[in-house]
Amino acid sequence: MRYCQGTKCHTYDTKDRKKGSKDNKRNETRKRTNFYYGNNNFCSLQCQTDWFNTYGDNAINHFGRVEQPIVLTEDNAWQTVWNRAHWDDNTQPEYIERNQITKAERPCQQPQQGR
Ligand SMILES: [Zn+2]
Repeated sequence: MRYCQGTKCHTYDTKDRKKGSKDNKRNETRKRTNFYYGNNNFCSLQCQTDWFNTYGDNAINHFGRVEQPIVLTEDNAWQTVWNRAHWDDNTQPEYIERNQITKAERPCQQPQQGR
């Protein structure tokens, strides 16, 4: 089990956040096995946004703010893409690599079929 990392999670008034009884009633941060947002860290997009509003600038500055464009050039532009030719001729490989700058294509290792 893990807690939602949202900085205001406990302030959203829902039944599942309510804990305690009578003299120690309180709302608590959500705790679950899995969360669907923010790489399994947040119970909702709102909680993810709350976290970013609180810590986002510090996090970006800590890990390195982008101060100039990140550049895609011919050398790092190869991406594995679906091979259109396979549609008409299934002896052709399912995937090829295409250079996103030059549009050149080349054969590549086929991804493992997960079956
Ligand atoms: Zn939350």
